[in-house]
Amino acid sequence: SLSERLGGVFDRLRGRGALGEADVRAAMREVRIALLEADVALPVVRDFVEKVTERAVGHQVIKSVTPGQQVVKIVNDALVEMLGGEEGGAAAELELGVTPPAIIMMVGLQGSGKTTTTAKLAKRLSEKERKKVLMASLDVNRPAAQEQLATLGGQVSVATLPIVAGQQPVDIARRALNAAKLQGFDVLMLDTAGRLHVDQALMEEMKAVADVSQPQEILLVVDSLTGQDAVNVAKSFSEQVPLTGVVLTRMDGDARGGAALSMRAVTGKPIKFAGVGEKLDAIEPFHPSRVAGRILGMGDVVSLVERATETIQADEAEKLAQKMAKGQFDMNDLRAQLQQMKRMGGLGALASMMPGVKKVQNAMANGQVDDRILVRMDAIIGSMTPKERTKPELLNAKRKIRVANGSGTTVQDVNRLLKMHQEMATAMKKIRKMGGLKGLGALFG
Ligand code: GDP
Ligand code: MG
Repeated sequence: SLSERLGGVFDRLRGRGALGEADVRAAMREVRIALLEADVALPVVRDFVEKVTERAVGHQVIKSVTPGQQVVKIVNDALVEMLGGEEGGAAAELELGVTPPAIIMMVGLQGSGKTTTTAKLAKRLSEKERKKVLMASLDVNRPAAQEQLATLGGQVSVATLPIVAGQQPVDIARRALNAAKLQGFDVLMLDTAGRLHVDQALMEEMKAVADVSQPQEILLVVDSLTGQDAVNVAKSFSEQVPLTGVVLTRMDGDARGGAALSMRAVTGKPIKFAGVGEKLDAIEPFHPSRVAGRILGMGDVVSLVERATETIQADEAEKLAQKMAKGQFDMNDLRAQLQQMKRMGGLGALASMMPGVKKVQNAMANGQVDDRILVRMDAIIGSMTPKERTKPELLNAKRKIRVANGSGTTVQDVNRLLKMHQEMATAMKKIRKMGGLKGLGALFG
């Protein structure tokens, strides 16, 4: 597995603090193979590996995990992010907030699962959201395609547009639109014809249908087993019609989910649903973290690192909390937090939860300030006497001027730092009132 391979790469560097460039590059060769094995398209793999390499070099390794495990976590997080972030459920929402009928158009190659997915989504919308749904098949190529949709409609108790022999797709679309308006349907689903390969006639037909129906959603249905080819399919479709999202079918098969990453990278559109079987309720909102785990084949490593990170942060926070409780959180502790922040790119255990520090961190993330502000704060604390560091309330106007001069800053800078320390102290008191660390989430959640 990838975890074993990475273990090999990192065996010799156990005990070192940060991930070095050469080691990360070696690890990325393994990640690259894992992604290709999961059927992620080659250009997408290249981009991804480049991005993650940048992110991983210099990253601190948490004490209780191996560097290999740490890299897997970094790769996993980047995958989740690229697949649409943690809250995949939110992205899965269909855009139906219009004057009814909302129109959903399904496009994709023949056999990708358009008709089945149309029925699955119609069932979901009518059962879960109590929508009145009408389905219409515009597939005049495949024999009995319209009857197939009518049969499925019967199975899921959703209305289908009556079949009129000899009508062309654009005319069927117009008729469906009228029927939906006249009969007060909330949602109209247009199931279009596919081809075995992308061809121009198909694209023209799709564009014409989109023109007359002006859909709120155009969903590209892709078979997740398509693998490397999925990219070309997605590219052609997204160049011709304004896609709003992707549905990946056959995620119940042995696909490792690589198509998901490719889809997302090529179309830039969210993957909204995953088809997970032939049955008509076998569809679910797309879960980036699940699919990331599947691509890497190592969900357990990821949660191991997450737990280790939490434990260490909790340990450290607990120690600080105890100090605070005794009124001992002083400038030395603040300095340690700031240094940790600088070293780990903003991951100081307790600091990151503190309001004053959070501001600095956000500003850094937005590129408004750089490391220099941390260096400056460090210099200010450095210019204090050991006594002032443990008892910052000693800093009167005169002492502040001395510290400012000594650190090459201004009294304003010194005041700002003292205020941050004060804010942290106040926050810690609140935490104690709320029952210790258990209250942390509630306070800073
Ligand atoms: P279309 O040509 O794009 O309309 O494809 P169909 O909807 O007719 O589906 C083709 C075949 O794929 C049918 O046998 C479906 O049952 C099957 N199918 C569709 N979605 C899924 C899925 O998520 N999982 C599995 N296992 N089969 C699926
Ligand atoms: Mg079909």
